[in-house]
Amino acid sequence: MITFRAAWACPIDQPPIRDAVIEVERGFIRSIAPFDSAPGASARSLAQGRPGSQLPAPGSRDLGNVVVLPGLINAHTHLELSWLRGRVPPANRFTDWVKTLVGIRRGTEQLITPEVMGPVRDAIRELRASGTVAVGDITNSLAAVEPMLEAGLHGVVFHELLGFDERDGALVETTRERRAAVAARGARISLAPHAPYSTSVELFKAIRAEVSGSNHPILSVHLGESVEELELLQTGSGPWRGMLQTIGVWREDWEIPACGPVQFLDRHGVIDNRTLVVHGVQFDEAALDRLRELGATLVTCPRSNRWVGAGYPPIDRFYASGVPIAVGTDSLASVDDLNLFSELKTMHWLAPEVPARKILESATLVGARALGLESELGSITAGKRAELIAVQLPAAVEDVEEYLVSGIAPSQVTWVH
Ligand SMILES: [Zn+2]
Repeated sequence: MITFRAAWACPIDQPPIRDAVIEVERGFIRSIAPFDSAPGASARSLAQGRPGSQLPAPGSRDLGNVVVLPGLINAHTHLELSWLRGRVPPANRFTDWVKTLVGIRRGTEQLITPEVMGPVRDAIRELRASGTVAVGDITNSLAAVEPMLEAGLHGVVFHELLGFDERDGALVETTRERRAAVAARGARISLAPHAPYSTSVELFKAIRAEVSGSNHPILSVHLGESVEELELLQTGSGPWRGMLQTIGVWREDWEIPACGPVQFLDRHGVIDNRTLVVHGVQFDEAALDRLRELGATLVTCPRSNRWVGAGYPPIDRFYASGVPIAVGTDSLASVDDLNLFSELKTMHWLAPEVPARKILESATLVGARALGLESELGSITAGKRAELIAVQLPAAVEDVEEYLVSGIAPSQVTWVH
């Protein structure tokens, strides 16, 4: 057993603990308590070492002036797009950003080449260096699965399928073997229908059925990101219709839903309490109320939303709605870095009234729950994995939660193990 002492700990499932002692046994958390009330043996072994001493007692370590917290959960990213870093500039309109992305990416969607894989590995190193323990990774190529397993990065791989002109669910069947191969390698894999403007109702329904009958019945979908998406669903026209016609996949028999994005997918039974609804920048109160009723999780990626021209999300309304809020960075095609702490800083800046504790919970426990990892990760709780990070603190910090959502650089982060 190893005992760690730190100036602060944020267990997430309880308030911050000043002068905390964490006992770890064989990679799992055994206990967490204030030093004063730590189990006798731990306190004695730490006392022998004396805080800050160069020679701590065997089996104990004083981490010094740090705050220890569980590794962060990035609930939405696309590691396979990492090679696009810096290549798709910010846009004022979402469809303009998509046009640039698709133009650069066309024909490379399934590539697993060194040009793609090098940046994937770099991105995983970057995630780890900034304190991320698990991801919800969206992928067309399944390229990141192997590097994730190699690096010990936890998470769920969402195989993303799309096709506005898919007239049945055949794509689900023809790709099933690829997912089975990944599952056999030990990865958690599920499915993600891309978005309402790129995925037919038939495909949505087939994916829903496949996911519901699987071992990891979690589904992720991009929803309510841009005003152009709302326009298409409400009226059947606008820039999305033009783009779908240009690339030759528009369907004359497409039934205009004449409603909002949540209502649209709800109508077809796509959303449930194991669904990650990603973005929601354009959601109104009714959409948020319905998500709460359904028990879905909303994943917000504010820096990406701004980059792609969708605008910043209404973070305060998200939290006020009572819907569980998780956090993602989205891909390096629409954000500068994969440091989730930068995302938290943006959320705090957008909604200073939302308690820092709620924002930290989003980046840990809520994300872990959404990905089905809450029995292992997301809080410093006895029995969970001891995959913990220590963030270096300046000399005098009274409110560690506030500090953690004010921007943390990777250079401040170390892994406790
Ligand atoms: Zn995305």
